[in-house]
Amino acid sequence: MLCLKCGQREQFADNLCEECFRASVQPISLPPVIHGNVCRTCFRLQKGRSWLEIEASIEDAAVHLAKLNIGISGDAQNPRVELSVDLQDSSVFRISGKASSVFKGVIVEQTLSTEVRFHLQSCPFCSRQRGNYFEAVIQLRGLDTLTERQIDELLQRIRDEVYSTSLKDPRTFISNEVKVRGGHDLYMGENSHARQLAQKLHDEYGGEFKWSSSLYGNKDGRDIYRHTYLVRLPGFVVGDYLVKESNAYLVTKVFKRVQLKELSTRRDITVDLQDAMSMRIFKAEHVEVELVVIMQTDKEVQLLHPTTMRPVDLLKPEPVTFGEKARCVYIEDELYLV
Ligand SMILES: [Zn+2]
Ligand SMILES: [Zn+2]
Repeated sequence: MLCLKCGQREQFADNLCEECFRASVQPISLPPVIHGNVCRTCFRLQKGRSWLEIEASIEDAAVHLAKLNIGISGDAQNPRVELSVDLQDSSVFRISGKASSVFKGVIVEQTLSTEVRFHLQSCPFCSRQRGNYFEAVIQLRGLDTLTERQIDELLQRIRDEVYSTSLKDPRTFISNEVKVRGGHDLYMGENSHARQLAQKLHDEYGGEFKWSSSLYGNKDGRDIYRHTYLVRLPGFVVGDYLVKESNAYLVTKVFKRVQLKELSTRRDITVDLQDAMSMRIFKAEHVEVELVVIMQTDKEVQLLHPTTMRPVDLLKPEPVTFGEKARCVYIEDELYLV
Protein backbone atom coordinates (compact mmCIF):
# COMPACT_ATOMS: atom_id res chain seq x y z
CA MET A 1 0.00 0.00 0.00
CA LEU A 2 1.30 3.40 -0.95
CA CYS A 3 1.23 6.47 1.30
CA LEU A 4 -2.19 8.17 1.18
CA LYS A 5 -0.59 11.58 1.19
CA CYS A 6 2.26 11.50 -1.29
CA GLY A 7 1.35 8.26 -3.06
CA GLN A 8 5.03 7.59 -3.67
CA ARG A 9 6.34 5.43 -0.86
CA GLU A 10 5.18 2.41 1.06
CA GLN A 11 3.00 3.08 4.08
CA PHE A 12 4.76 3.12 7.41
CA ALA A 13 2.11 4.10 9.99
CA ASP A 14 -1.32 5.75 10.00
CA ASN A 15 -1.58 5.10 6.22
CA LEU A 16 1.43 7.35 5.62
CA CYS A 17 4.99 6.75 4.54
CA GLU A 18 7.72 7.34 7.09
CA GLU A 19 8.56 10.78 5.73
CA CYS A 20 4.96 12.01 5.60
CA PHE A 21 4.27 10.45 8.99
CA ARG A 22 7.23 12.28 10.49
CA ALA A 23 5.96 15.56 9.02
CA SER A 24 2.40 15.06 10.22
CA VAL A 25 2.96 14.33 13.90
CA GLN A 26 3.69 16.71 16.75
CA PRO A 27 4.57 14.63 19.79
CA ILE A 28 5.78 17.74 21.60
CA SER A 29 3.58 20.82 21.60
CA LEU A 30 3.35 24.32 22.97
CA PRO A 31 0.23 26.51 23.08
CA PRO A 32 0.58 29.56 20.79
CA VAL A 33 0.11 32.02 23.64
CA ILE A 34 0.89 31.52 27.33
CA HIS A 35 -0.20 33.91 30.05
CA GLY A 36 1.56 33.99 33.38
CA ASN A 37 2.21 35.99 36.52
CA VAL A 38 5.77 36.97 37.33
CA CYS A 39 7.22 39.03 40.18
CA ARG A 40 8.71 42.24 38.81
CA THR A 41 11.44 42.21 41.46
CA CYS A 42 12.70 38.65 41.87
CA PHE A 43 11.18 37.15 38.66
CA ARG A 44 9.51 34.33 40.55
CA LEU A 45 6.73 32.67 38.57
CA GLN A 46 3.37 32.06 40.10
CA LYS A 47 2.21 28.48 39.77
CA GLY A 48 -1.25 27.90 41.11
CA ARG A 49 -1.28 29.32 44.62
CA SER A 50 2.45 29.17 45.14
CA TRP A 51 5.46 31.01 43.79
CA LEU A 52 8.44 29.20 42.31
CA GLU A 53 12.14 29.84 42.77
CA ILE A 54 13.88 33.12 42.02
CA GLU A 55 14.91 33.41 38.34
CA ALA A 56 18.09 35.13 37.24
CA SER A 57 16.25 37.29 34.71
CA ILE A 58 12.77 37.88 33.35
CA GLU A 59 13.88 36.13 30.12
CA ASP A 60 14.73 33.02 32.16
CA ALA A 61 11.31 33.23 33.78
CA ALA A 62 9.66 33.43 30.32
CA VAL A 63 11.56 30.35 29.11
CA HIS A 64 10.74 28.55 32.35
CA LEU A 65 7.03 29.31 31.95
CA ALA A 66 7.09 28.07 28.33
CA LYS A 67 8.72 24.82 29.47
CA LEU A 68 6.05 24.35 32.14
CA ASN A 69 3.47 24.50 29.31
CA ILE A 70 5.07 21.93 27.05
CA GLY A 71 2.75 19.07 26.17
CA ILE A 72 4.33 15.68 25.47
CA SER A 73 2.39 12.84 23.87
CA GLY A 74 2.29 9.64 25.88
CA ASP A 75 3.87 7.77 22.97
CA ALA A 76 6.87 10.08 22.77
CA GLN A 77 10.07 8.76 24.25
CA ASN A 78 13.28 10.53 25.10
CA PRO A 79 11.84 14.02 24.62
CA ARG A 80 14.34 16.89 24.37
CA VAL A 81 13.46 20.57 24.16
CA GLU A 82 15.61 23.66 23.82
CA LEU A 83 13.96 27.06 24.04
CA SER A 84 15.21 30.61 24.03
CA VAL A 85 13.85 34.13 23.81
CA ASP A 86 13.90 35.65 20.31
CA LEU A 87 12.26 38.95 20.98
CA GLN A 88 10.99 40.92 23.90
CA ASP A 89 8.48 43.71 23.79
CA SER A 90 8.00 44.99 27.33
CA SER A 91 6.33 42.02 29.04
CA VAL A 92 5.68 39.96 25.90
CA PHE A 93 8.28 37.40 24.84
CA ARG A 94 8.61 35.52 21.53
CA ILE A 95 10.10 32.15 22.31
CA SER A 96 11.27 29.50 19.90
CA GLY A 97 13.38 26.39 19.89
CA LYS A 98 13.80 22.82 18.81
CA ALA A 99 12.38 19.59 20.11
CA SER A 100 13.13 15.99 19.35
CA SER A 101 11.64 12.72 20.48
CA VAL A 102 11.25 9.12 19.44
CA PHE A 103 7.63 8.62 18.39
CA LYS A 104 6.33 5.18 17.33
CA GLY A 105 9.87 4.18 16.52
CA VAL A 106 10.78 7.24 14.43
CA ILE A 107 12.94 10.14 15.47
CA VAL A 108 10.79 13.26 15.12
CA GLU A 109 12.41 16.68 15.09
CA GLN A 110 10.25 19.75 15.45
CA THR A 111 10.57 23.49 15.70
CA LEU A 112 8.51 25.09 18.45
CA SER A 113 7.40 28.62 19.08
CA THR A 114 5.13 30.45 21.45
CA GLU A 115 4.45 33.82 22.95
CA VAL A 116 4.67 34.39 26.69
CA ARG A 117 2.62 37.30 27.99
CA PHE A 118 3.58 38.24 31.51
CA HIS A 119 1.52 40.11 34.02
CA LEU A 120 3.93 41.83 36.37
CA GLN A 121 3.15 41.35 40.05
CA SER A 122 4.79 41.73 43.40
CA CYS A 123 5.19 38.29 44.96
CA PRO A 124 4.37 37.85 48.67
CA PHE A 125 8.07 37.68 49.59
CA CYS A 126 8.98 40.92 47.83
CA SER A 127 5.92 42.79 49.03
CA ARG A 128 6.63 41.69 52.61
CA GLN A 129 10.22 42.84 52.34
CA ARG A 130 9.25 46.18 50.82
CA GLY A 131 6.53 46.60 53.39
CA ASN A 132 9.13 46.26 56.17
CA TYR A 133 7.43 43.11 57.36
CA PHE A 134 9.15 41.42 60.30
CA GLU A 135 8.48 38.60 62.72
CA ALA A 136 11.48 39.07 64.98
CA VAL A 137 14.07 41.63 66.04
CA ILE A 138 17.64 40.75 66.87
CA GLN A 139 18.95 43.35 69.27
CA LEU A 140 22.73 43.33 69.15
CA ARG A 141 24.18 45.07 72.16
CA GLY A 142 27.55 45.57 73.79
CA LEU A 143 29.00 46.96 70.58
CA ASP A 144 30.27 50.19 72.13
CA THR A 145 33.61 48.65 73.03
CA LEU A 146 34.12 47.27 69.52
CA THR A 147 35.92 49.26 66.84
CA GLU A 148 34.07 50.46 63.74
CA ARG A 149 35.87 47.80 61.73
CA GLN A 150 34.86 45.01 64.13
CA ILE A 151 31.23 46.17 64.03
CA ASP A 152 31.27 46.34 60.22
CA GLU A 153 32.72 42.84 60.02
CA LEU A 154 30.15 41.48 62.43
CA LEU A 155 27.22 43.06 60.54
CA GLN A 156 28.58 41.97 57.17
CA ARG A 157 28.87 38.39 58.42
CA ILE A 158 25.23 38.49 59.52
CA ARG A 159 24.08 39.92 56.17
CA ASP A 160 26.04 37.25 54.24
CA GLU A 161 24.53 34.54 56.41
CA VAL A 162 20.98 35.85 55.90
CA TYR A 163 21.57 36.15 52.16
CA SER A 164 22.76 32.57 51.78
CA THR A 165 19.79 31.29 53.81
CA SER A 166 17.40 33.37 51.69
CA LEU A 167 18.43 31.44 48.58
CA LYS A 168 16.84 28.37 50.15
CA ASP A 169 14.11 30.07 52.15
CA PRO A 170 12.73 33.30 50.64
CA ARG A 171 10.99 34.21 53.88
CA THR A 172 14.41 34.96 55.33
CA PHE A 173 15.48 38.56 54.93
CA ILE A 174 16.49 41.62 56.90
CA SER A 175 13.70 44.11 56.33
CA ASN A 176 15.34 46.89 58.30
CA GLU A 177 18.51 47.73 60.21
CA VAL A 178 18.58 50.42 62.84
CA LYS A 179 21.64 51.72 64.63
CA VAL A 180 20.83 52.40 68.26
CA ARG A 181 22.86 53.54 71.23
CA GLY A 182 25.47 50.86 71.98
CA GLY A 183 24.06 48.50 69.43
CA HIS A 184 22.21 47.57 66.32
CA ASP A 185 18.65 46.28 65.71
CA LEU A 186 18.01 43.85 62.88
CA TYR A 187 14.40 43.36 61.78
CA MET A 188 14.07 39.80 60.52
CA GLY A 189 11.45 38.50 58.09
CA GLU A 190 11.17 35.04 59.58
CA ASN A 191 11.27 34.03 63.21
CA SER A 192 12.84 30.58 63.37
CA HIS A 193 15.81 31.69 61.30
CA ALA A 194 16.16 34.79 63.47
CA ARG A 195 16.29 32.59 66.59
CA GLN A 196 18.94 30.31 65.07
CA LEU A 197 21.01 33.27 64.00
CA ALA A 198 20.81 34.94 67.40
CA GLN A 199 21.75 31.69 69.14
CA LYS A 200 24.70 31.26 66.81
CA LEU A 201 25.93 34.80 67.47
CA HIS A 202 25.67 34.17 71.18
CA ASP A 203 27.58 30.86 70.90
CA GLU A 204 30.31 32.53 68.94
CA TYR A 205 30.75 35.85 70.72
CA GLY A 206 29.60 34.95 74.21
CA GLY A 207 27.83 37.42 76.47
CA GLU A 208 24.18 37.50 77.34
CA PHE A 209 21.21 36.01 75.50
CA LYS A 210 17.58 36.81 76.22
CA TRP A 211 14.41 35.99 74.38
CA SER A 212 10.95 37.43 74.67
CA SER A 213 7.81 37.58 72.59
CA SER A 214 4.65 39.61 72.58
CA LEU A 215 1.25 39.18 71.00
CA TYR A 216 1.16 41.46 68.01
CA GLY A 217 -2.16 40.70 66.38
CA ASN A 218 -4.39 38.11 64.88
CA LYS A 219 -4.49 36.86 61.33
CA ASP A 220 -6.96 34.28 59.98
CA GLY A 221 -7.84 33.27 63.53
CA ARG A 222 -4.19 32.72 64.45
CA ASP A 223 -2.31 34.76 67.03
CA ILE A 224 0.67 36.61 65.61
CA TYR A 225 3.67 37.08 67.86
CA ARG A 226 6.68 39.25 67.48
CA HIS A 227 9.88 37.94 68.97
CA THR A 228 12.87 39.78 70.37
CA TYR A 229 16.32 38.24 70.73
CA LEU A 230 18.77 40.21 72.78
CA VAL A 231 22.39 39.31 72.11
CA ARG A 232 24.70 41.30 74.34
CA LEU A 233 28.35 40.85 73.45
CA PRO A 234 30.73 40.66 76.39
CA GLY A 235 32.55 43.77 75.22
CA PHE A 236 35.58 41.95 73.85
CA VAL A 237 36.25 39.62 70.94
CA VAL A 238 39.07 37.24 70.01
CA GLY A 239 42.23 39.28 69.49
CA ASP A 240 41.45 41.83 72.21
CA TYR A 241 43.46 42.09 75.45
CA LEU A 242 42.23 41.85 79.02
CA VAL A 243 43.99 42.98 82.18
CA LYS A 244 43.32 41.83 85.72
CA GLU A 245 45.42 43.21 88.54
CA SER A 246 48.80 43.44 86.86
CA ASN A 247 48.35 40.44 84.54
CA ALA A 248 47.66 41.00 80.88
CA TYR A 249 46.02 38.42 78.63
CA LEU A 250 45.25 37.92 74.96
CA VAL A 251 41.71 36.64 74.24
CA THR A 252 42.17 33.51 72.11
CA LYS A 253 38.72 31.94 72.19
CA VAL A 254 35.22 32.86 73.33
CA PHE A 255 32.71 30.04 73.58
CA LYS A 256 30.66 29.83 76.76
CA ARG A 257 33.97 30.15 78.63
CA VAL A 258 36.86 32.38 77.62
CA GLN A 259 40.32 31.17 76.74
CA LEU A 260 43.16 33.57 77.50
CA LYS A 261 46.90 33.57 76.94
CA GLU A 262 48.85 35.25 79.70
CA LEU A 263 51.31 37.58 78.01
CA SER A 264 54.15 37.32 80.54
CA THR A 265 54.19 33.52 80.84
CA ARG A 266 52.48 32.48 77.56
CA ARG A 267 50.30 30.17 79.62
CA ASP A 268 46.78 29.39 78.40
CA ILE A 269 44.05 29.71 80.96
CA THR A 270 40.28 29.41 80.81
CA VAL A 271 37.98 31.66 82.81
CA ASP A 272 34.26 32.14 83.19
CA LEU A 273 32.66 34.72 80.98
CA GLN A 274 31.63 36.73 84.03
CA ASP A 275 35.23 36.86 85.29
CA ALA A 276 36.47 37.89 81.87
CA MET A 277 33.82 40.58 81.64
CA SER A 278 35.04 42.08 84.90
CA MET A 279 38.55 42.65 83.48
CA ARG A 280 39.79 45.80 81.79
CA ILE A 281 39.51 45.59 77.99
CA PHE A 282 42.11 46.83 75.51
CA LYS A 283 41.63 46.80 71.75
CA ALA A 284 44.46 45.27 69.73
CA GLU A 285 44.88 48.37 67.57
CA HIS A 286 45.38 50.54 70.64
CA VAL A 287 48.05 48.43 72.32
CA GLU A 288 49.90 46.49 69.62
CA VAL A 289 53.12 48.25 68.58
CA GLU A 290 56.15 47.50 66.44
CA LEU A 291 59.37 48.53 68.14
CA VAL A 292 62.85 49.06 66.73
CA VAL A 293 65.30 46.33 67.75
CA ILE A 294 68.59 47.84 68.97
CA MET A 295 70.37 44.62 69.73
CA GLN A 296 69.61 41.06 70.75
CA THR A 297 71.18 37.93 72.23
CA ASP A 298 69.69 34.44 72.38
CA LYS A 299 67.81 35.26 75.55
CA GLU A 300 67.29 39.00 75.48
CA VAL A 301 66.31 41.77 73.14
CA GLN A 302 66.89 45.48 73.53
CA LEU A 303 64.14 47.65 72.07
CA LEU A 304 63.41 51.33 71.73
CA HIS A 305 60.67 52.11 74.23
CA PRO A 306 57.56 53.56 72.50
CA THR A 307 57.09 56.53 74.84
CA THR A 308 60.41 57.21 76.60
CA MET A 309 62.42 56.45 73.43
CA ARG A 310 65.09 54.90 75.62
CA PRO A 311 66.50 51.40 75.29
CA VAL A 312 64.63 48.77 77.24
CA ASP A 313 65.69 45.13 77.74
CA LEU A 314 63.18 42.31 77.55
CA LEU A 315 63.62 38.57 78.05
CA LYS A 316 62.67 36.53 75.03
CA PRO A 317 59.82 34.20 76.03
CA GLU A 318 61.08 31.69 73.49
CA PRO A 319 64.17 31.43 71.30
CA VAL A 320 63.39 33.65 68.33
CA THR A 321 65.47 36.04 66.27
CA PHE A 322 63.85 39.39 65.53
CA GLY A 323 64.46 41.42 62.42
CA GLU A 324 64.69 45.21 62.52
CA LYS A 325 61.46 45.42 64.43
CA ALA A 326 59.65 43.33 67.02
CA ARG A 327 55.91 43.09 67.62
CA CYS A 328 54.96 44.01 71.16
CA VAL A 329 51.97 44.83 73.27
CA TYR A 330 52.15 47.96 75.40
CA ILE A 331 49.51 47.92 78.10
CA GLU A 332 49.37 50.13 81.19
CA ASP A 333 53.09 51.00 80.99
CA GLU A 334 54.10 47.35 80.60
CA LEU A 335 55.75 45.98 77.47
CA TYR A 336 55.24 42.38 76.37
CA LEU A 337 56.73 40.55 73.43
CA VAL A 338 54.15 38.63 71.41
ZN1 LIG B 1 4.15 9.91 1.89
ZN1 LIG C 1 9.40 38.69 44.26
